[in-house]
Amino acid sequence: MGGLDDLYQQLILDHYRNPRGEGRLDPATATVAENNPMCGDEVTVDVRLGDGRLEAIGHTGQGCSISRASASMLADSLPGRDAEEALELIERFRLVMHGEAEVPDELGDAVALEGVQKFPARVKCALMSWLAAREAIQAALAKDPETEGAVDGR
Ligand code: ZN
Repeated sequence: MGGLDDLYQQLILDHYRNPRGEGRLDPATATVAENNPMCGDEVTVDVRLGDGRLEAIGHTGQGCSISRASASMLADSLPGRDAEEALELIERFRLVMHGEAEVPDELGDAVALEGVQKFPARVKCALMSWLAAREAIQAALAKDPETEGAVDGR
């Protein structure tokens, strides 16, 4: 028993030890820092947008394995998507962490964090980087002159 839990545990450890997207983005369209004083976790998330598309996510920080693995899974699953789609997936992940949705396939390895919802004290660890990314994407969309009215110019 516990095969799935073991697999998820391995995935979390793998992302913790080999974080995807770790480092600052240069240039970045927007940057948001978040922290979780309850656990001592800190994260800074950079996003780069181009033509309404989320081109890249970078993250730096320190904290527990769940917080670091979650930032890695974020950077692994969202870049390359339309910014609006990325925001929808972040909202889905937030609902998953509150036990109100299933993990969609698009979120890839983040499925391993599904079980965190059973530990309310750790939910913030998992959500922190995703909420920082949401804020950064929204800030970047507000800044990106090509997002609105990009249909003209032919
Ligand atoms: Zn934590």
